[in-house]
Amino acid sequence: MESTNYRCIYCLEIKPVNLFNGEHVIHKSMTKRIQKNLILHGRVCETCNSTYGKTMDLKLSRSYFEGLNRFRQDMKPVSESHHLDQKNIQWSVADPEAFHNEIGDFTEVLGDCLILFLSDTTKKIFTLGQLRRKPLNELVDLDKIEMLRVFTGRQDRADAIGELIKPHVSEKFQLAENLEKHKVTATVTYDEIAQRAIAKIAFNYFALVTQQNPDIVFEKSFDSIRKFIYRGIFPSIRPVQKQEELSDFALGGLSLNGHWIRLYKNPDLSTVIAKVSLFNQWVWKVVLSSNYQNGSEIPTSSHVWDIDGELCQPILTNAT
Ligand SMILES: [Zn+2]
Repeated sequence: MESTNYRCIYCLEIKPVNLFNGEHVIHKSMTKRIQKNLILHGRVCETCNSTYGKTMDLKLSRSYFEGLNRFRQDMKPVSESHHLDQKNIQWSVADPEAFHNEIGDFTEVLGDCLILFLSDTTKKIFTLGQLRRKPLNELVDLDKIEMLRVFTGRQDRADAIGELIKPHVSEKFQLAENLEKHKVTATVTYDEIAQRAIAKIAFNYFALVTQQNPDIVFEKSFDSIRKFIYRGIFPSIRPVQKQEELSDFALGGLSLNGHWIRLYKNPDLSTVIAKVSLFNQWVWKVVLSSNYQNGSEIPTSSHVWDIDGELCQPILTNAT
């Protein structure tokens, strides 16, 4: 009964089918509520799956922008912000003393949020994600608002918050004067484990879109990226490169809030590339193979995980 044995795409061990379980292309902590989520079946053994879950998946969802963005997108309640591991995150604000006197701790704010100071001297914090999901008048008693402030490092996100709250507070406040913007900037270091986690997302996606021809992922050309993910051994060419700020162009002309992956083969350089963007932060270029000479066809493929629309779907794009 040979057909009941599978081979793991990471450790390369051949094991019975019952020792394999589902591996989310993008971990479920970052794809909460998404319908038609992409999951690999029979490709990643449960030993690799659970090791990754406890190491790189957990770290990616708690220690970098991805961790922060889970709060900002309302995938995790702000009250659990102590789960954020801040070793790789450096915060800065224009006026630290005023910030600490008025707000307190950085993790209370997280960035990309609105703080309301209320007449009973309490304050309420709403992330951009919360404001997208529920109108402000359902989140707070509008009559109690005395002062509004926005904390973010990005103008487009400040504008998005302004647009969402304008219908509810414009009678009471001249938003332009009263919506004071405070620049709070987080600088994040993407260390080896973060890069391996991003490379794993790219490799998972590669395995998923080539499942008609399941042996491609086992070809030697992909051993260096596999060793990087599995053991942290860096290939000669930097495997994960922060490439560009995300644009509508990168999303194939779609303006979406979410994640995006694109796989393609560059015919001139014989490279197999996956581009990955998580939470619209920026685009990572992952070199899956730097010298792919084999004749097997590598399909061009893109998917988006639309957080607001709660759906994962393929998209058509010619852009590389
Ligand atoms: Zn394995």
